[in-house]
Amino acid sequence: MITQRPGKLQKKELPTAFNKLTGQLFDNLPIAIYSCDKEGFITSFNQAAVNLWGRTPEIGKDLWCGSWKIFQLNGEPLNLDSCPMARTLKEGIALEGEEIIIQRPDGTRLNVLPFPVPTFNDSGELIGAVNTLIDVTEQRNSEGKQAMLAAIIESSEDAIVSKTLNGTITTWNDSAERVFGYKEQEAVGNHITLIIPQNRRQEEEEIISKIRHGEKVEHYETYRLTKAGTEIPVSLTISPILNTKGEVIGASKIARDITRQKNAEESLQRYASNLETLNIVGKMISERLAVQDILQQVTDVTTQVTGAAFGAFFYNKFDEHGESYTLFTLSGAPREAFEKFGMPRNTAVFSPTFNGEGTVRVDDITKDPRYGKNSPHFGMPKGHLPVVSYLAVPVISKSGAVIGGLFYGHPEAGKFTSHHEAIIESVATQAAIALENAKLYEEIQKLNEKKDEFIGLASHELKTPVTSLSGYLQIINRRLPADDVNKSFIEKALAQINKLSDLISDLLDVSKIETGQLPFSFTSFDLLQLLHEVTEVMQYSTKTHRLVLNPGGNKLMVTADKQRIEQVIINLLSNAVKYSPGADLVNISVSMANNKAVVAVQDFGLGISKEQQERIFTRFYRVEDMATHISGLGIGLFISKEIISRHKGRLWVESGQGNGSTFFFEIPLDQELT
Ligand code: ADP
Repeated sequence: MITQRPGKLQKKELPTAFNKLTGQLFDNLPIAIYSCDKEGFITSFNQAAVNLWGRTPEIGKDLWCGSWKIFQLNGEPLNLDSCPMARTLKEGIALEGEEIIIQRPDGTRLNVLPFPVPTFNDSGELIGAVNTLIDVTEQRNSEGKQAMLAAIIESSEDAIVSKTLNGTITTWNDSAERVFGYKEQEAVGNHITLIIPQNRRQEEEEIISKIRHGEKVEHYETYRLTKAGTEIPVSLTISPILNTKGEVIGASKIARDITRQKNAEESLQRYASNLETLNIVGKMISERLAVQDILQQVTDVTTQVTGAAFGAFFYNKFDEHGESYTLFTLSGAPREAFEKFGMPRNTAVFSPTFNGEGTVRVDDITKDPRYGKNSPHFGMPKGHLPVVSYLAVPVISKSGAVIGGLFYGHPEAGKFTSHHEAIIESVATQAAIALENAKLYEEIQKLNEKKDEFIGLASHELKTPVTSLSGYLQIINRRLPADDVNKSFIEKALAQINKLSDLISDLLDVSKIETGQLPFSFTSFDLLQLLHEVTEVMQYSTKTHRLVLNPGGNKLMVTADKQRIEQVIINLLSNAVKYSPGADLVNISVSMANNKAVVAVQDFGLGISKEQQERIFTRFYRVEDMATHISGLGIGLFISKEIISRHKGRLWVESGQGNGSTFFFEIPLDQELT
């Protein structure tokens, strides 16, 4: 009979010890069990069934399905009549584990396996059923997760491999096959060293030791070996695999093939370094003026940038034998390697370059239709540097004349890209400009040398006759009686001869400065006294200006070349007078500071503009608008500057146009005599 005690198995008989035991067992079973009558009304249930239902049913009132909604595994609602329990009650048969999904009153869904068994009375009539429900939700969830994980692993772009702690490969996904080339069955069971290059085996030990300690290794960039034997760059992330007790039992490894990333990085780096090199070339080209230097630099750097095995610059030469090409600079190969075969001729391969028609870039020159058409070699001479990849760029001047060509070779095919081509073309343009400048500069240099040579020679040749002339005039002057009418003319002639002699001496000095042969002789003397003497002598011949010396003291001893310092003072004083035609005063002052003597010569004349101030110290430079009416050669300040700098001193001017000028020179009191 049915009692009102829910959850307890009800029996008609008085409980025996056995029945009591089964009652307890039933109640405490972790599996849900309930019974119902043939209409489906609940007659008994255990605690696990209450848990499963999500509510406590009322005996005799609630149907076995309570307030569940029931679904098929695909999520479609299941008609109650088609449920295993309903079928058992209807057909009187036991059913085994036809999985269904139930939704409880709180909305949660569970996967259950029902095992309904019909019950019969003694006369064999169906009186109800007992149903056992096994909750398989967790199992199904974890299976789902597993399946999902497996799908993720299989569809991953990265190679995912797991291995035991001793390195045996246990799983190998599709991408591992794609990246490393081994099929799953070839890899699983093998040792992981299968994909580790010989020289990187040490890495594996280090990684495994970290894994043993439960540490993860992330984004470790290294190289791994493919089945084809090539090493590919990979980024590895390796994590320990733990068992349920939390012990490390293996490692899972995600290997990302970073070949493309590495290539991109490398090409970026190469691009940046090419750019840098080209910048350096550009700078060097603009700084260097010697043709040989420029071309060697251009050849070296461009050979490096293109990755060519060798590079060369040939220039066009036209002579009485016609056109020929001369090797000028070479990089990556010895000169003899070229020279023993003679210079390239105007063959079909070379003519586009030497005729300035354009760049020739060929992946394999030996297969080019233009190649091998000329006797005697019909191709490259035997023993010639092996050229397969070929790049040649003409170097054309602004006027359109072909100066020569840059040639690059490599023994392997397809080495030069359009990128290389563009780089070399831009270098060739820069080089052409630089070469033109260098040519111009070299021509100017040659003219300058000729001029210096002439000045040196002329002044030297002039010096002797002028000295004799002065000597003879002095003799005549001495022999003439004091009242001779010609005496004043002789004296004037002597004064002019002295001026001429000074000019010649200055020219000789310039020529000696150029050749580094201006002699110096250092002695110790009183600079103040020298200034007094020079001022006095100069005042004697200067009628227009007062030369006023403001001595800073009584004595100023210096170690210097007295004659040369005198030369500087005379030059500054005569300039001060010469370039201040409207004024009548020149101030000379001397002072001492920081162990240096400073002499200043101030005039109130024409002055010098800021732009001219640096230039007046250069050879033969004269401020233009003055030069026409004031005589001079423009070498006095150049010589003075050299003299002062040889004393380790400084010569400078402070002036403004129309405001007069003050020239200063400063020399150390003591010279280290060498
Ligand atoms: P020179 O006087 O023979 O021309 P210098 O080398 O002594 O040669 O001087 C170079 C140029 O500097 C002069 O031509 C002149 O233009 C300018 N200069 C030199 N001294 C003065 C000065 N005191 N005032 C103005 N201009 C000067």
